[in-house]
Amino acid sequence: MFNLFDAIASNGETIVNRKPIIVAGALLIAFLAGQAAEAKRWGCWIQADRNVKIRNTANNATAAVNDWNSLTILNLTSVGSGEETYVFNANSGNTGWGGLASIVSYSGCTILRATAQLNTYYSWTTNAARGVHCQEIGHTFGLDHSNDGGCMGGGYWYDIATHYTIVQKNINEIGTMYASRVAGSPDFSTVGPEVDTPRFHAFWANNPRSLRETTGLASQIVVATVTGIAKGAPIVNRQPDGHVSRIPTQRVSFSVEGGIKGSLEAGDSFVLFQNGNAANRFDEDPSYAPGSRHLLFLTARGDGTYLVVSPSGRFELSDGDGHSELIPAATQGFAADLKGAKLQHVMFDVVRSLAPVDAE
Ligand SMILES: [Zn+2]
Repeated sequence: MFNLFDAIASNGETIVNRKPIIVAGALLIAFLAGQAAEAKRWGCWIQADRNVKIRNTANNATAAVNDWNSLTILNLTSVGSGEETYVFNANSGNTGWGGLASIVSYSGCTILRATAQLNTYYSWTTNAARGVHCQEIGHTFGLDHSNDGGCMGGGYWYDIATHYTIVQKNINEIGTMYASRVAGSPDFSTVGPEVDTPRFHAFWANNPRSLRETTGLASQIVVATVTGIAKGAPIVNRQPDGHVSRIPTQRVSFSVEGGIKGSLEAGDSFVLFQNGNAANRFDEDPSYAPGSRHLLFLTARGDGTYLVVSPSGRFELSDGDGHSELIPAATQGFAADLKGAKLQHVMFDVVRSLAPVDAE
């Protein structure tokens, strides 16, 4: 039987002579970056109209709220209850996400209530906190990530701490989305979201932008198969004003087929901490399917379980042996560009980036 890990261990020559796949990915990213970047919508999510009631309990979000209010056609009214967007800071622990937008309740595609949170478990500069809030609040208006130079692209294409404000493309997109959504107008979004439409949009604590960087961040890199999925303890935050945020989690058990970095090896098992569940799906990080096989870049969570470094470190594998192809969880960035890459080739590149830089 073909053993991929044996092949990698014995095939140093291939490692040295193969042109790294990452070069093609980098060229593609450079090409895409040259394209005009338009602000993008997040699925079909949209507020009822341009008059949005907002409750902001986070001092470090005030500048971001003011930007969205003063620069776009949105009219944000500060309220103490009955809000459509709730903005807060809370320590949710080592979840892998530093910021989170969630659609709490909705009718069709219309957002009835959404939240924007900064996870204070991780440390933030003033500008980074402002940028994450800017992005999460933008999600609650129905915007997706976009490589537009503003906060909606922070973490994905550039540093949020230096790109913490909205830009003209966001202003334009909001203008288009809300031009005809005036108070009292009927909800034109008659078609609701798909059943599994993500309602959680995370700003990941790690934002690796290359396979090498992802490899460096991971303490364990494994090929492993899902053997079981159990309900985990929910992430619960109670705010002083009575707001309770409750996010379900899962404990996903894996059996290791082989390890490329770290102590996990063939025959070992481990538990992955997973945000959300089948009914509460995180964008780019959906629930795992039982029996599915993955290439995972992991960090220890501190409680005996593991986290993926970010969705950029999560790849499902198509059926097959060493010829399996990668199905990235990430929908943007270098990881998304590895769609269809052969497991064997990517693993050689991982091994290559683990080795001292003398292979050229
Ligand atoms: Zn985001």
